Amino acid sequence: MNLHLPDLSILRRCWTRYQDPTTTHSFDVAGVSVGGSRPVIMAGPCAVESFEQTLNIATAVKAAGAHLLRGGVYKPRTSPYSFQGLGEEGLEILAAVRQETGLGFVTEVMDPRLVEQVSRYADMLQIGSRSMQNFPLLTEVGLSHKPVLLKRGWSSTLEEWLCAAEYVAKEGNRNIALCERGIRASCHWSYARNLLDLNVIQPLRHATPLPVIVDPSHATGQWTLVEAMSRASLAAGAHGLLIEAVGPDVRREDLQCDAEQGIPADVLAAITAAARNMEVPVPTATVTPGLRAGLSAGSWA
Ligand code: PEP
Ligand code: MN
Repeated sequence: MNLHLPDLSILRRCWTRYQDPTTTHSFDVAGVSVGGSRPVIMAGPCAVESFEQTLNIATAVKAAGAHLLRGGVYKPRTSPYSFQGLGEEGLEILAAVRQETGLGFVTEVMDPRLVEQVSRYADMLQIGSRSMQNFPLLTEVGLSHKPVLLKRGWSSTLEEWLCAAEYVAKEGNRNIALCERGIRASCHWSYARNLLDLNVIQPLRHATPLPVIVDPSHATGQWTLVEAMSRASLAAGAHGLLIEAVGPDVRREDLQCDAEQGIPADVLAAITAAARNMEVPVPTATVTPGLRAGLSAGSWA
């Protein structure tokens, strides 16, 4: 069989002790273990829009039992005329909200020139779907010492995604979580925004020791689908979830970004309660024989 497997030598060489696919490279984000035996829940607004809105959501996120806050201040928008995020002012808001609530936060960085700035504030750097193959950005994030949430490009194969992780690891940063967020398919907006590829979780867990996170919010685009897809993701072997949430008094029509996606706090509480009662399942041994054969033949040594 001609496998055309990518060269993932750094990812493999660095983790000889992870030959066993049931073992994950876990790491700490603001006192929270990502890749541990319990699922980690990161939740918050799509975009940071004001201090009051962010504190309001963060308080609800904490009360619902989630572990980390999410929120974008540099937003990758399809239209250049859409709200682009508050930039550094948004980072200051997130830092102030962390001070108030004790919740660490993950936020996106899009520009290699801003990695240093975002790293000064954030507990975890998010690489968005659109940036997964921004190679200078991956290199810069690889040079930083912050944990990385690497989202899958919406048209990317598993091999391309792992090569993106290799770019980060090659510079010395191995604290990478892979985040499935849905891929393009023919379901656009008729019932869901993207197609959530739960098939990919088991092969990922065999191919690397990196934690796997699922974002059911961008995968569905509809908050009413998020709870079911969250439960399905955890059952399929995800180490955690990245979820958009809205505050208690929100008027969706006032939100500048992804207004239909954010789940209310009671739904978030149901998801975190389910996650709290489970252990991340160990991957089963029988997926993707081709990938497994190619990766296991001495490759982790
Ligand atoms: C986000 O999480 O804020 C986001 C923009 O997601 P994605 O890059 O997956 O579209
Ligand atoms: Mn969003």
